[in-house]
Amino acid sequence: MNIFQYMEQHGHEQLVLCHDEASGLRGIIAIHNTVIGPALGGLRMWQYNSEDEAILDALRLSKGMTYKNAVAGLQLGGGKSVIIGDSRKDKNEALLRSFGRYVQTLGGRYYTAEDVGITTADIEQVRLETDFACGIPVASGGSGDPSPFTALGVYRGILACAHELWGSQDISGRTIAVQGLGHVGFYLCQHLHQAGAKLVVTDIYPELVRKVVEEFGATAVSPEAIYGVACDIFSPNALGAVINDDTIPVLKCKIVAGAANNQLKENSHGDKLRELGIIYAPDYVINAGGVINVAAEMEPAGYNSELSTAKVMRIYDNVSHVLAIAKNEGIPTYQAADRLAETRIAQIAKVKRTFIA
Ligand code: NAD
Repeated sequence: MNIFQYMEQHGHEQLVLCHDEASGLRGIIAIHNTVIGPALGGLRMWQYNSEDEAILDALRLSKGMTYKNAVAGLQLGGGKSVIIGDSRKDKNEALLRSFGRYVQTLGGRYYTAEDVGITTADIEQVRLETDFACGIPVASGGSGDPSPFTALGVYRGILACAHELWGSQDISGRTIAVQGLGHVGFYLCQHLHQAGAKLVVTDIYPELVRKVVEEFGATAVSPEAIYGVACDIFSPNALGAVINDDTIPVLKCKIVAGAANNQLKENSHGDKLRELGIIYAPDYVINAGGVINVAAEMEPAGYNSELSTAKVMRIYDNVSHVLAIAKNEGIPTYQAADRLAETRIAQIAKVKRTFIA
């Protein structure tokens, strides 16, 4: 892998390799962009097959955080970190504290948080060594589980899509097919049910399906059948790449809006949705509730869940803004989201240059 070439191509600022023999730490911190503010992005612990794979993941994910944080209206740039290892076997206090010391050396250019393989309790240990970590448990004065906030943001984004298509936020009586009933999917179903929507749901775990059927009167279908459900809205909340050559021909929805990351297998699938007249709420715009909530820990007055909720509610405006750009400029919504992020970064870069001059 030619790292500098990749960084040049994607505009990354910095890549840090962290090695500590005593704790066995092999970590990577990627900072993509700090024009808007310090980089924020989670720490992932994963058994990568190679160092290149781990570096590429950190670089790729850090760029995604720049765009996500920019469109979410946060005063933050994008970064991401990874620890190479098995989170079930190799994770311990020494390793996490060692990683925390590396974060501290960056002096606030990068803030870490939880991601795959890392819990809020782990972040408490990272924080023993650094001032630049967020996403700690509620019991410790932190923001806790981000999932209810992600679900609220997705719900608000769905209302924005409904308004765009039907001229009203009223989704009562609308049929919504929900794929994935885990941390986000369950809370999302709760919001949709309270708003009077009819739910058709699926998960690979029958007990999760049973709960949503019993509590929200949902209709269950098999995981394979969810794509072809005749519905108003398809909401992916499980896996990435679910919008692809196999699923698009069977979709019978008018809107695709859910929490799952990287829903489009390829950008061309976003073009295809547009051709079919299906509104796609770009994943990183609609699923930003979690990061907005985590970032609320960085407020000088400390974390406040009411203020955080108010910010997450604004995902309605962010999704509406992206849909408006797409409509006005005649481009797919995923491109409109990228354009919004890039425009904000470019404008702030200009202001910074003006003041330095
Ligand atoms: P989760 O693991 O709690 O839930 C995912 C659910 O999807 C699980 O119940 C799983 O059984 C189910 N699932 C997996 N494969 C499936 C399939 N083929 N068909 C149907 N169901 C299937 O994860 P989560 O925290 O709820 O996150 C859901 C998605 O949203 C993920 O893509 C995640 O990356 C993304 N996301 C989550 C957050 C958050 O705050 N948790 C924030 C941003 C994005």
